[in-house]
Amino acid sequence: MAPLISGIHHITAIAGHPQDNLDFYTGILGLRLVKTTVNFDDPGSYHFYYGDGTGSPGTILTFFTWPGARRGRKGTGQVTGTSFAVPLGSLIYWEDRLRSAGVPIQARSGPFGRPVLAFPDGDGLSLELIETEQLDHSRAWTGSPVPPDMAIHGFHSATISAADAGPTVSLLQETMGFRLVGEEGNRQRLEVAAGGPGQTADVVSVPGGEPGRVAVGTVHHIAWRAPDQAQQLAWLQILEREDYNVSPVMDRAYFHSIYYREHGGVLFEIATDQPGFAVDEPVESLGSELKLPSWLEPQRSVIEDALPSIQRRQGVAA
Ligand code: ZN
Repeated sequence: MAPLISGIHHITAIAGHPQDNLDFYTGILGLRLVKTTVNFDDPGSYHFYYGDGTGSPGTILTFFTWPGARRGRKGTGQVTGTSFAVPLGSLIYWEDRLRSAGVPIQARSGPFGRPVLAFPDGDGLSLELIETEQLDHSRAWTGSPVPPDMAIHGFHSATISAADAGPTVSLLQETMGFRLVGEEGNRQRLEVAAGGPGQTADVVSVPGGEPGRVAVGTVHHIAWRAPDQAQQLAWLQILEREDYNVSPVMDRAYFHSIYYREHGGVLFEIATDQPGFAVDEPVESLGSELKLPSWLEPQRSVIEDALPSIQRRQGVAA
């Protein structure tokens, strides 16, 4: 049986100062910090994971923090838009909340006629809130400063910018199981599995567009969901057959990952749903202490001393 991509697993971006990042995503956007760890490939920097109450795949925005680093450039070969689903009618609440926090609103209408709020985080990362029907409030984070009927309910979609959208769309459509569901101007909308929030990707064609440069305020990579390791392995074989240079399976502690660069330039990952964020700490206290994978645990004191100190003002169940 053909393996499945069941949607977006996580999106990983680069932040500047870790405290500003924590304050924005937990304090203003009301996401839960579901894991505090380090970049396994660069243990001198934090890796924060934000999501819903349990850190479900499809709700996870993660950051490597690079305090003092310069800002990147948004451009082609990148995920240039990260969109979250919010309940119908909630954008009035959100506009007020963001304005009170001094966050500039960049747009109120989005593609395909949907009400949208577009705004940057403190490092310039482009975010959107998109009103979406039929969201399930049951998994919202009850410790959030944002009430469940207004809360972010995981990803709506991601926007990929490409100088030539052809190869990216063809990979998604012909190999990864996505289908084209809409076109508007230079934007093509694709959906995978059942479609809808968390299972939607837009590809925007920007011929001659300047290539993006990954640094603070830009997306590093996007991970798609594989339900299990057997299907991930099947994906690895399919992609290798198509001459993608695919990494071996990597143990990321909370999921297993393979990585490959699509021909439009974006780093893609396929990550498994299991084992999830409760593998090394209870759901009630997710994110509340620095977790390290077993192979970095012997260096804990050196790692802790090198990391900037942070205050988690939220992240433990009230
Ligand atoms: Zn990743």
